[in-house]
Amino acid sequence: MPKHPKTDRTLVIIKPDGVQRSLIGEILGRFEKVGLKIVGMKMAVPTPSHVEKHYNLDPNWKRLVGEKAIQSYIKKGVKPPSDDPLKVGAQVIERLKKYFVSGPVVVIAIEGAHAVPMVRKIVGGTEPLSSDVGTIRGDFVLDSYVMADTDNRAIRNLIHASGSETDAEKELKHWFKKDELISYKLISEQILYDVNMDGLLE
Ligand code: GDP
Ligand code: MG
Repeated sequence: MPKHPKTDRTLVIIKPDGVQRSLIGEILGRFEKVGLKIVGMKMAVPTPSHVEKHYNLDPNWKRLVGEKAIQSYIKKGVKPPSDDPLKVGAQVIERLKKYFVSGPVVVIAIEGAHAVPMVRKIVGGTEPLSSDVGTIRGDFVLDSYVMADTDNRAIRNLIHASGSETDAEKELKHWFKKDELISYKLISEQILYDVNMDGLLE
């Protein structure tokens, strides 16, 4: 039998700017309110090598982000720092390392129906300037590729969220030990997932 979507899990990290902007509660609230369940959570100051490994868990990510960054330089009419996507991708990772280790982050494991795409929908697109209103990145921050690239830094967008189920599985293992994730029931799941909704009336 295929895995039921309600047991899907994903990784969210509130980046140092999210912690500094006092948005931990607001961000957690958005995931809780939609019905998702927090199954692991901790605060940490990551090391640069832990961040580097995180962004290399997907063997293609560095090249893809490099290609994306080169396109955005060209779109702006600026010459990219290199034509090699791997070199530009490596530069993005260097910037991300500085960003992630600048202060504490909150690492969260989230479980619930379609956790990976649900969380990405709530988080919004990578660049806050173009993230939809109503998403976390669209509502609470105002960074852009233009500003980040001008200042040679990573885009400040408050949150990391796994991009696919495969990434989520690897990233959860990278940030949490097995016994740090807790399987438990939430009362609200009776309403969210019960097939017949027949246990309410006395
Ligand atoms: P995400 O999944 O929406 O977080 O986006 P990506 O996985 O493509 O990139 C990871 C993070 O790297 C983003 O959240 C940004 O903080 C940063 N980033 C990605 N692409 C760029 C870029 O082209 N320029 C800059 N300055 N930062 C970037
Ligand atoms: Mg990503």
